[in-house]
Amino acid sequence: MKLVDVHCHLNHKVFEGKIDQIIINAKQNNVKAILVSGVNSKSNREVLELVKKDDLLKASLGIYPIDALGLAEGETGLPRQPEKIDLDEEFKFIEKNKDKIVAIGEIGMDFHWDKDHHQEQENNFRKIIQFANKICKPIIIHTRNAEKECLDVLEQESKVKVCLHSFSGNKKLIKRAIELGYYFSVPPKIMLLEQFQMLVSMVPLTQLLTETDAPWMSPERDLFNEPANVLVTIKKIAEIKNLTIEEIADQVWKNYSSFIIP
Ligand SMILES: [Zn+2]
Repeated sequence: MKLVDVHCHLNHKVFEGKIDQIIINAKQNNVKAILVSGVNSKSNREVLELVKKDDLLKASLGIYPIDALGLAEGETGLPRQPEKIDLDEEFKFIEKNKDKIVAIGEIGMDFHWDKDHHQEQENNFRKIIQFANKICKPIIIHTRNAEKECLDVLEQESKVKVCLHSFSGNKKLIKRAIELGYYFSVPPKIMLLEQFQMLVSMVPLTQLLTETDAPWMSPERDLFNEPANVLVTIKKIAEIKNLTIEEIADQVWKNYSSFIIP
């Protein structure tokens, strides 16, 4: 059995000094690939450095919508981005390292944390998708309170494969994203949130992926999450789809394999 975590933040400071153990735990649960996502200039550099530690770790470099604007969400445990990101400079850096990365993300739009720069967020998002098209890398999308707007932009711009991470859109938007052929990555928080259970019941198994968003999105309240927990999500998907854990794991691995091929 091969499991995958397509989205997590192992460069978060809670994992300092614990990465070796986190990798051991993941391997014990048959996790064969962990995509570590960057969110800004500094974290992208940290991610590239971190993934050298083990073949299991893969880099996904990103530009988080709030970081692109130089706005801080408060202390997150990830490197701060106090100024606007110079997108062209960051694109140059990512392109130079494109053979070392499997995806672009996380990227997207977030109208929850920022109420005043929606047009600028959209412009940035378009530019980043166009860049991903140019270097032929799949994209991993964060969206909060901007699910419809994100799908509009993706539909117009994206020529690469799309994964919506921890998608909180309503049924109508889930249906639209299914029809667009997008993947949905589901976190272990599915144990607590009806939203993700509903999503899994709607989305064909061929469009599901697993993630942890570690250290966030834990299956239990107030606990830190880690990539080994993708097994929790696989078990829950098996229950909802009424299939075996092996059947779910095999198909999700196939989905991952086709997601990362341009
Ligand atoms: Zn994330």
